[in-house]
Amino acid sequence: MLRKNRLFTPGPTPLLPAAQTAMAAFTAHHRTADFKALFQRVLADMKEFIGTQNDVLVLACSGTGVMEAAVSNLTSPRDKVLVLTAGKFGERWTGLAKAFGCEVDVLSAPYGETFSLAEVRARVNLDVRAVFVQATESSTGVRHDVEGIAKIVRASGNDTLLVVDAITGLGTTHLDVDGWGIDVIIGGSQKALMMPPGLAYCAVSEGAWKRMDTTTSARYYFDLRKERKSAAKGETAYTPATSLFAALGAALEFVRGMGGGNLAKGREKLVNNAELCAEMTRAGAKASGLNLYASAPAAALTAISAPEGVDSGKIVKEFRESFDAVVANGQGEMKGKLFRIAHIGYYDYLDTIGILGALEHVLERVLEKKMEYGSALRAAQEVYARAVAEKRQLVDA
Ligand SMILES: *Cc1c(COP(=O)(O)O)cnc(C)c1O
Repeated sequence: MLRKNRLFTPGPTPLLPAAQTAMAAFTAHHRTADFKALFQRVLADMKEFIGTQNDVLVLACSGTGVMEAAVSNLTSPRDKVLVLTAGKFGERWTGLAKAFGCEVDVLSAPYGETFSLAEVRARVNLDVRAVFVQATESSTGVRHDVEGIAKIVRASGNDTLLVVDAITGLGTTHLDVDGWGIDVIIGGSQKALMMPPGLAYCAVSEGAWKRMDTTTSARYYFDLRKERKSAAKGETAYTPATSLFAALGAALEFVRGMGGGNLAKGREKLVNNAELCAEMTRAGAKASGLNLYASAPAAALTAISAPEGVDSGKIVKEFRESFDAVVANGQGEMKGKLFRIAHIGYYDYLDTIGILGALEHVLERVLEKKMEYGSALRAAQEVYARAVAEKRQLVDA
């Protein structure tokens, strides 16, 4: 059978066709009025996409580059910081903070779980200069309670900064960045923005800008103050990834279109879309007799435990070989134990139904037993129908 290559990975994600064509067509030099207009429009739109009044910067690097920038700009060697980690991306915060000489207090939750807020509260004290966490831990599919964590940090009564890696959280999760008081929130182009890897972005609070005046860690390319100064003049400090900015402009237009001309509304819809695709996927997985890996599942992706005695690598391979569908294996110690199906960005009903239909065939192969066709699909369809019906009631009410 003909097979279309499709990504179900938590980054990179499927590309928006309009973003691809915008990229291919873009030729302007970066020190021209044309680029300046695009750059300024994109930065203004990014505030709406993130949902913040804070300054937004867009840099040419992968998401980890801006994670590193957050550490190097906001901390000094020997600063005490708190890392909340429950997976491979949380561990990245620990590695980065140590690389810049911070004294790192690590509060970890087991893979597949999230933190108890009481434990977080016990660790946030006057000495902690910054708290680092993920909004959604893409290695385990867990959603962390960013609002609850932010409340604790704000209630601590000192100037502790809260830094959130929302690289898969933005565009899949409702996040009130300014209302909750998130100081730095970080995203990446290859996730909900439906474009290739290469850009990462952040929104930075006044408190975080203030901190940067006193920190002493080494930074050069990732000196956010320099980028901010340039951005105020409609420029970047160094050569920007011009064609990716064109793609980003097109992606933001698409999200605005989802909101009927209102970008903030479009973002809400994009998040609701991820939530619904995720709920359908969870229902389908459970109806197929599978267990979810995450205790508090994110809308960004669904992590599913491999059935007893089956290496999840076999499932990943079967998806690829039979359907050219790319799903993700577990990372690190979780390799072989789970597989991950993402719903970040450019996914719809048919993608979701398609992967669940394929899942039934894949399970039949790896388990070597006859599956009841349609049970995953029916469970997902019930979720979809319920969501549609509930929305109708809302409109009618
Ligand atoms: C994708 C991702 C990153 C960044 O990875 P890069 O490869 O550097 O873009 C960081 N954190 C989370 C939660 C992610 O999903």
